[in-house]
Amino acid sequence: MSPPAQPSMRPTGAGELITDTLDVVHDRFSASEGGELASYIPELATADPGLFGIAVASVTGNVYVSGDADVPFTIQSLSKPFVFALALRDLGLEEVLVRVGAEPSGEGFSSIRLEPGTGRPPNPMVNAGAIVTTSLVDAPDEAARFERIRAELGAFAGRELDVDERVYASEAATGDRNRAIAYLMHGAGSLQADVEGTLGTYFRQCSVLVTARDLAVMAATLANGGVNPVTGVEVVEEHVAERVLAVMATCGMYDYAGEWLLRAGLPAKSGVSGGLVCAGVGQFGLGLFSPPLDARGNSVRSVAAAQEISRRFDLHLMHRPDRDVSALYRSTRVDRLRQLAHRTPGQRRRLRDLGSAISVRAVQGSVEFAAAESILRSVDELPSPLPDGECWLILDLSRASRVISLGAQLLGGLVERLQSQRVHVVVVDPFERGLVTGVEHRTTTFEDAQRWCEDQLLATA
Ligand code: GLN
Repeated sequence: MSPPAQPSMRPTGAGELITDTLDVVHDRFSASEGGELASYIPELATADPGLFGIAVASVTGNVYVSGDADVPFTIQSLSKPFVFALALRDLGLEEVLVRVGAEPSGEGFSSIRLEPGTGRPPNPMVNAGAIVTTSLVDAPDEAARFERIRAELGAFAGRELDVDERVYASEAATGDRNRAIAYLMHGAGSLQADVEGTLGTYFRQCSVLVTARDLAVMAATLANGGVNPVTGVEVVEEHVAERVLAVMATCGMYDYAGEWLLRAGLPAKSGVSGGLVCAGVGQFGLGLFSPPLDARGNSVRSVAAAQEISRRFDLHLMHRPDRDVSALYRSTRVDRLRQLAHRTPGQRRRLRDLGSAISVRAVQGSVEFAAAESILRSVDELPSPLPDGECWLILDLSRASRVISLGAQLLGGLVERLQSQRVHVVVVDPFERGLVTGVEHRTTTFEDAQRWCEDQLLATA
């Protein structure tokens, strides 16, 4: 017998609908003329000012692009959050914070001001701070340090990345301001490594070649809790990704950081080559590229397009999270449910009379503070027709996607309190995740929970 024929797959091009939304934004800003090419690194002044690319990488690993999303350019300051991630992995937050702060500087990216007293640079997103973070990456020598950085940037992007030697040579030859900053920090003690060696690595790191598509995947990795959604590799731990995003949100756009957060409401980082990365946390990464810069060194088209995308996609961080779907999707009692099979007529009658002693609360989605609170308040009072007030609660977590630590603590406390008051608690969890501690009985199906409670009720009454 021949195997059943496989149905042929018909392409519908549904993903193009997302590309279409990017094309609309691209078209809207591609004609804008403002801005100047960066010229303090001479090689950057040779860029084509007309280039403009937008890419979105979702946390499910799909990438959508519009315009010049595959044109390579040097990563420049966009390397800073990712090298900061590497330093956090090597040293942990406290050690890193001894050497570099986390305060928005309110100044340009190449500001020379250090923190009075400590000599720390203000944050890892401006040149001074980034030079220190580069020096903190653990390696036996500068060549190995740069290779670790290149590998890390590549892991975020999901492919091996090369260096633009011309841009590197151009910046190394003209980088006097960064040299001045580095020597100042060395004198102040915040930069302890060899100055020229560190600068060489920092300039090379800034000359790594990426595309807007790469930037989108890099940002999506941060937005996805540190796991690259395209390769599936865990590049950094979730807490590292969170911290990097936090510093991007407050310091990523230099002296435009405050207004940027106000308008776009997204963690972001810009660079003098005209790139911009933004993260829609939990949803996607956005990579943009267009060389002309505004007075603060941020890409004119990239900033405008990212703000438009944030507005269209409702991404502002302070946007009230969607609570249209209630966490508590079912709140009932067993006497109101369809009766189980295999009950005798006598049992059925007793369950109709006394079934209100068994309450049901079914929860869906992520149990964080708001959801935990609504569960607690929904059991402020529980019905019991029995003379001694004995009753049962079925807590159905089948549709709970996760329970955060506070939720688990509150629900654990609830179970303890109820059980000390002769309320028997049964948790339903088909995945046996042990989300709530201390419960009297656990089942994997709602029906089993109902049967267990009913059997006890029938035996009592
Ligand atoms: N390599 C550049 C510098 O250090 C990076 C600056 C930037 O992109 N803002 O000056």
